[in-house]
Amino acid sequence: MTTFPSAESASCADSFGGSAAPVTVFGPDFPFGYDAWVKAPTGLGVLPAEALGREVAVIGGGIAGLVAAYELMRLGLRPVVYEAERLGGRLRSERFPLPTAHDDGASSDGSSEAVAELGGMRFPVSSTSFYHYLELLGLRTEPFPNPLTEAAGSTVIDLGGETWYAETLADLPDLFKEVAEAWDAALEREFGLSGLQEAIRTRDAQTLKSLWNKIVAAWDETSFYEFVSRAEEFADLSFRHREVFGQVGFGTGGWDSDFANSMLEILRVVVTECDSHQELVVGGVEQLPVGLWNRAVNDSPRWPKGTTLASLHTPRPDPSEASRTGTPRGAVASLRRLADGRIAVTETSGEVCSYDAVLATCQSWLLTTEIDCDESLFSQSLWMALDRTRYMQSSKTFVAVDHSFWKEIDPHTGRQVMSMTLTDRLTRGTYLFDNGPDQPGVICLTYSWMSDALKMLPYSAEKRAELAIRALEKIYPGLDIRSHIIGEPVTVSWESNPYFLGAFKGALPGHYRYNHRMYGHFMQEDMPDSERGIFLAGDSISFTPAWAEGAVQTALNAVWGILTHFGGRTHPENPGPGDRYPELGPVELPE
Ligand code: FAD
Repeated sequence: MTTFPSAESASCADSFGGSAAPVTVFGPDFPFGYDAWVKAPTGLGVLPAEALGREVAVIGGGIAGLVAAYELMRLGLRPVVYEAERLGGRLRSERFPLPTAHDDGASSDGSSEAVAELGGMRFPVSSTSFYHYLELLGLRTEPFPNPLTEAAGSTVIDLGGETWYAETLADLPDLFKEVAEAWDAALEREFGLSGLQEAIRTRDAQTLKSLWNKIVAAWDETSFYEFVSRAEEFADLSFRHREVFGQVGFGTGGWDSDFANSMLEILRVVVTECDSHQELVVGGVEQLPVGLWNRAVNDSPRWPKGTTLASLHTPRPDPSEASRTGTPRGAVASLRRLADGRIAVTETSGEVCSYDAVLATCQSWLLTTEIDCDESLFSQSLWMALDRTRYMQSSKTFVAVDHSFWKEIDPHTGRQVMSMTLTDRLTRGTYLFDNGPDQPGVICLTYSWMSDALKMLPYSAEKRAELAIRALEKIYPGLDIRSHIIGEPVTVSWESNPYFLGAFKGALPGHYRYNHRMYGHFMQEDMPDSERGIFLAGDSISFTPAWAEGAVQTALNAVWGILTHFGGRTHPENPGPGDRYPELGPVELPE
């Protein structure tokens, strides 16, 4: 999902810089301040002495797994991370293996600074827990070149064979403004968007809950398309307006890809401003999960200064000999409850270890595919939720180019020769990444979802790039994109990978209850013993899937659950998510 500035945001360029407190991903389902919890000097909690050093299995070395592992290590537990593929998961930055235009710009392994972000690539500044970890590692961000933003420079919209060039929304025909205004007005009239956001800005959890809970009950079973087609603001406009909204809407790659989703899911994105003010991570977002793997703790009651997750995963007996060479364990093949109540984790290599607590952060479907789980580990109603959760497909294809040639000005038109491009053609969204003068640039030739992504699924990277270039040549006749390409294209379809099966969750109408069951599973006090000790986190558990912030927040829920499982507690001045859950947790809908 992504940003097409609304009429309002286009006119008041940056409300974030104003005096009002910012909108953040504070709820709306569970308005708990995760950012404040992780930043508090008191720390996340205290474990009893006998629990210090106990092992916890963490399945998945994506952002959820590594945030949880890092915080559990700080608390004094010993996380044992299992990763089937590569640390980072869906925050995967693929470096193009090419020489830079100037040798001194090349890194020591000979690869360039040109990066293809295969998973998450634009991070809303409202993702304050996610940004906490970026700041911890000193990673730098820059505005993402979204359509109609200064960072993009210019945008081309190509629909139904017609092409428009724009730098701001004001450059586009009235129809686009009417669409943006209709969307803003519909959100305000139906949901009282500004009231919800005011409650978020002021962190007024009670008001937010009283507003949001009514919306949940009324809207869970309505799709995004039903909302758009029935809203009076759109009903007075032509079908063409709804079509334009679906094709470019306020989202690149088209919000029509989300039309089948629950309206609640879309509303969460808008309410928490995940659709605006997005930044990229300079040098690639994968530096964040990998950085957490290598980050030393200096304040753990158990581990000596300098201990890292990497050092805890080296075969050395003394983790104080901090080493950066540690690797996670391999893919998990099965989870079994043992007679003593512990959980046995078996790797595909056949190696078995048992744990008092296990955290699974992989996509929830994998618990019935790649991982053979004892059925008794979860209740039947939770299994229903884990399996019925629905994933969206997505396809991206990138190429490196000799330089940022698109910035050249066509002498005939006075415009850039190529722009960030939104289209109803195969490519849907094309993004241009400028790595500085005389450096190779990167083009995301195509970023698409759902049926548009499936059109690419059977093809090789080369064929996908070819198809995308052919589509772009229709929009930019005479522009020779091919002559600028250096090296091989890079592509991804997460759905074709057995360790992912999809890009991210996209809840359908009627899925609120499933989400609630999975999200609230870290509250284990009232569960039978047979279901305790296994925790869930990650994108598929989150109420804000497709945003890394949701993976981080659910990881922090699991940290609280595991802390409590080992008899620990939070500091009275810094209550954790589970302490506030009974009061502020998501509303329960009748079964
Ligand atoms: P993952 O990253 O999937 O981590 C789970 C890990 O488990 C994986 O590394 C996997 O290899 C591993 N695993 C699976 N099975 C096993 C097994 N049997 N044994 C051991 N390990 C296993 N978010 C944003 O904020 N902004 C964006 O712009 C954005 N765009 C996105 C675009 C795409 C195409 C995709 C795919 C995602 C995007 N996201 C975005 C979402 C964001 O990337 C995810 O929310 C986040 O990375 C999920 O992290 P996770 O730890 O929950 O899951």
